[in-house]
Amino acid sequence: MRKILIIGNWKMHLNASQASLLVHRLHERIRIYRDIEVVLAPPMLTLQPLSVQLDRRKFRLAAQNAYQKDEGAFTGEVSFTMLRDLVHYVIIGHSERRRLFHEDLDTVRDKVAAAVRNNITPILCVGETKHERDEGEAKQVLHDQLMTALSNLTAAEVKDAAIAYEPAWAISNGSDYIGHEIAKPDDVESAVTYIRAYITDVFGNTAGKQVRVLYGGSVVPDVVGGFLDIPGVDGFLVGGASLNYHTFSDIIGASQRWQRDKGEV
Ligand code: PEP
Repeated sequence: MRKILIIGNWKMHLNASQASLLVHRLHERIRIYRDIEVVLAPPMLTLQPLSVQLDRRKFRLAAQNAYQKDEGAFTGEVSFTMLRDLVHYVIIGHSERRRLFHEDLDTVRDKVAAAVRNNITPILCVGETKHERDEGEAKQVLHDQLMTALSNLTAAEVKDAAIAYEPAWAISNGSDYIGHEIAKPDDVESAVTYIRAYITDVFGNTAGKQVRVLYGGSVVPDVVGGFLDIPGVDGFLVGGASLNYHTFSDIIGASQRWQRDKGEV
């Protein structure tokens, strides 16, 4: 059985003392779970102090981004090499990075390869925009994103990675979940099935079964069970709701109840 994986992406929110306070609150509310892995992806600046504060039995750390070269004259960047002893995961190819920072397919591929080269597990985000969805191109977009991003990886490396299906049209703008589209379990099921089928075709059965596939897009506690019911969904990449310790810990609590009710633990 694959563990449930829940990642909180804090995006560009919280300075060092605010981040420390949120971790303090999360420590109070979140237990040690044997079958749920909880990962925090705070801003780069706060990774170092939080790594000292975190109870590693409860949380792992992820970076939200890194640069694909190991070192050199790249002003303002932080490499995967610099992060390798600090984080377990790096989020790569988030739709905000693709859209706002013009990260193309090849850049995402190079970042995935740099993560693996530096012993960091990539959380590869894939998903279509609203326009691509309306044009009926969603599967083709997933295909192109997966094919390029994973092209330098072996089957064993793909098996250990995580892939987050995040339709860009369902991602909240922070803390406001009203006024934009919410993905329905049916939309997510067909995309997740496609992702696993692609991985199985290209990298074999073991990778297709073991790669972790997450859903991300306006996840709040009430929708957790509906998405976990989808075969092949292993957890969530949570944005806005991860900044509130009540909501984030309720997402974890709801996942744990779902596991218990299904007899998965
Ligand atoms: C995200 O940024 O990856 C995300 C899913 O955000 P939100 O949960 O706020 O939609």
